[in-house]
Amino acid sequence: MNLNELTLKQAYEGLKEKKFSSVELTQACLKRIEERNKDINAFITVASEVALEQAKRADEMIASGQQKMLTGIPYSVKDAICVEDMRSTGSAKILDNYIAPYPATVIKKIQEQGGVILGKVNCDAFGHGASNENSMYGPVKNPHDLSKVAGGSSGGSAASVADHMCIYGIAEDTGGSIRFPASLCGVVGLRPSYGRNSRYGIMPMASSLDTVGPIAKTSEDIAIILEAMAGKDEKDGTTVDVPVPHYGEHLEEDISGLRVGVPKEYFEMAGMDEETRVLVEKKIQQFKELGCELVEVSLPYTKYAVPVYYILVPSEDSSNLGRLDGIRYGVREEADTLLGIYAQSRAKGFPEEVKRRIMIGTYALSAGYYDAYYRKAQKVRTLISQDFERVFREVDVLVTPTSPFPAFDLGEKSSDPLAMYLADIFVGPAAVAGIPGISLPAGNTTAGLPVGLQIMGKRMSEELLLRVGHQIQ
Ligand code: GLN
Repeated sequence: MNLNELTLKQAYEGLKEKKFSSVELTQACLKRIEERNKDINAFITVASEVALEQAKRADEMIASGQQKMLTGIPYSVKDAICVEDMRSTGSAKILDNYIAPYPATVIKKIQEQGGVILGKVNCDAFGHGASNENSMYGPVKNPHDLSKVAGGSSGGSAASVADHMCIYGIAEDTGGSIRFPASLCGVVGLRPSYGRNSRYGIMPMASSLDTVGPIAKTSEDIAIILEAMAGKDEKDGTTVDVPVPHYGEHLEEDISGLRVGVPKEYFEMAGMDEETRVLVEKKIQQFKELGCELVEVSLPYTKYAVPVYYILVPSEDSSNLGRLDGIRYGVREEADTLLGIYAQSRAKGFPEEVKRRIMIGTYALSAGYYDAYYRKAQKVRTLISQDFERVFREVDVLVTPTSPFPAFDLGEKSSDPLAMYLADIFVGPAAVAGIPGISLPAGNTTAGLPVGLQIMGKRMSEELLLRVGHQIQ
């Protein structure tokens, strides 16, 4: 096995036992990037020199007995997350030359453990999309089939992990961007509860939904990364001040007797791929073998999650993107008037989908329509949250497909925004309600494409989700 194919846990142990160095591990990842990135297009910026320097320092930490769980382990960072002194484009040309002056809090924490950053990875611009085709740096291809999408918006993150270009990735999930591409690429992705991890230094998309979390090969690896990332941050007032558990400690604890809810609405959707449904249902049967009880439940407001999401998110998007005007950050297009500079910079620097969201959001927030759209969507959002609260009085976790279909062809949905929005049907509800969800591999279709199982839980129930994920994987 090549070093770049190790799980995080295996890499940690290998480094500890001095079987290899962080420099060797990092070189193995860089070699893989060199070989494969031209086909997959996962990395926008490869930071070889920085990575090797950080690896050397990590080896010194290990030699002097200061190894932590993430010391010396190479990872990728979604390009919508700031890393100090590194280009951070958000996959939009308006930030083509933007060098972040400070790191996101979650990155700072990983770096304090001696993490090794390989570079910045592709995504849908500012996180807008489900296929990674809304990137101004080209789409990411699925490592399992280069004619298919990797999923989005964190397609570069999921593909870089699935293709063994890195050991794990740090990504962002506003409405499925971690879970959805993890499902399409056959890896594990966790959207933590809103407020579990600091959003400081993450390019804001929809501030009331944005979360940042890991993509890795196993739930055990996710537990290690989450423990390093999580916690209260005085720079993000929405982070919750509750202790961070040792997520990895209870992974083996018995889950028999657990009540596992199967929401019927998630299996009755029109347009659902048959093979996906069968694979997910088969995976769910495995819970019985572990002594869990399967309970059919109903979440009647599920069908409103996507419409609610696509009012709230463009509204908050449009307001957050106001700062990108060609004056304060990034690329400026010259024009005779100030208004001309704004208009030209935004016209050339944003892709279609970003412009569409700014228009929809500005409309939904305008004086005459605010009550009819934004406020109403917030009310329905409360009903969706209450659906979950009610069901979590009956069951401990919920299991569903992550995506209604496996990876689709490049170009198949890119000219149909509504079809693309509907891809979020199973990942949107947790996002709207602020609860955590994890996507795990549930098998492959006959064409060899991965299918994902989603497990959702109450707010701050990551420990349980990871334990269930670990045992079911
Ligand atoms: N598909 C969702 C969207 O386009 C994903 C967003 C996200 O989680 N960043 O809004």
